[in-house]
Formats: sequence, structure tokens, C-alpha cells
Amino acid sequence: FTPMASEKDAALAATPSDAPTIFDKIINKEIPSTVVYEDDKVLAFRDIGPQAPVHILIIPKVRDGLTGLSKAEERHSEILGRLLYTAKLIAKQEGLDDGFRIVINDGPTGCQSVYHIHVHLLGGRQMNWPPG
Ligand code: C5P
Repeated sequence: FTPMASEKDAALAATPSDAPTIFDKIINKEIPSTVVYEDDKVLAFRDIGPQAPVHILIIPKVRDGLTGLSKAEERHSEILGRLLYTAKLIAKQEGLDDGFRIVINDGPTGCQSVYHIHVHLLGGRQMNWPPG
């Protein structure tokens, strides 16, 4: 493991590919994570590098070609909706009643570093706009 100077450096160093990612190991419980929600299709866990008091990643258990949102096909519509609906459930569970931020980074320019689609749920502090 080589520490990266920033998330942007990690994203620019990551090669977009279909190779297995660290999230497979998290799904298979081969590496520990703090799971906040799990069902048959979706897993949600706390980000190891939190950018807000609440920072949770929501991912499909089966990637099925969804390395990122830009790879979405019509067949992915249901799981994409389910990821967002799960984000809403977790926001409620985390007490983010005044609001929250949802982010999906895509590709190097979008600062994506893990090529297994994931929805970021951020909350617990005032967000700014535009994002960096
Ligand atoms: O959108 P992006 O691909 O940059 O997000 C990946 C996220 O996965 C980062 O926020 C990073 O902190 C998180 N991560 C994690 N656990 C790992 C590896 C990455 O929570 N083992």
C-alpha cells in the first residue's frame, strides 16, 4: 500500500478496468469494513477516508460490468435506482434530516479511484457548491 497525496492523485493513478477491486474483498469480508446496511443486492460501509462526519459508500454486491456510471446499460436501471433509494434509507438511519450530499465519481476526470460503481453519501456538515 502506497499512501497517496490526495484522492485526486489516487484517481489519476487508478487504471479504469474490469479487474477485481478492493470492494470485492470488502463484500466477501476478506478485509474488514464498518457495514451500516446490507441486503441481498446492496452493501453500504463507512469510507476509510471520510470527507465529512458521515461518509458512507453504497455499492452493488454484484458489479455486472458496472465499473462506473458511464458503463451503465438499460439492464442496470433497477440496481442504480436501488443504490439511490438505499442512500435515502441510510441518510435517515444516520439522522441526516436536514440534508446530505450524494456523489458518483466517474473516470479519471471525475476523480474515480475504485472501478466498482459506488454512491458516496456525505453528511453531518454544511456542504459547499460548486464541488472541487
Ligand atoms: O469515488 P472514488 O472512486 O474516488 O471513491 C473511492 C472511495 O473508496 C474513496 O473515498 C476511498 O476513501 C474509499 N475506500 C474505502 N476503503 C478502501 C479503499 C477505498 O473506503 N479499502
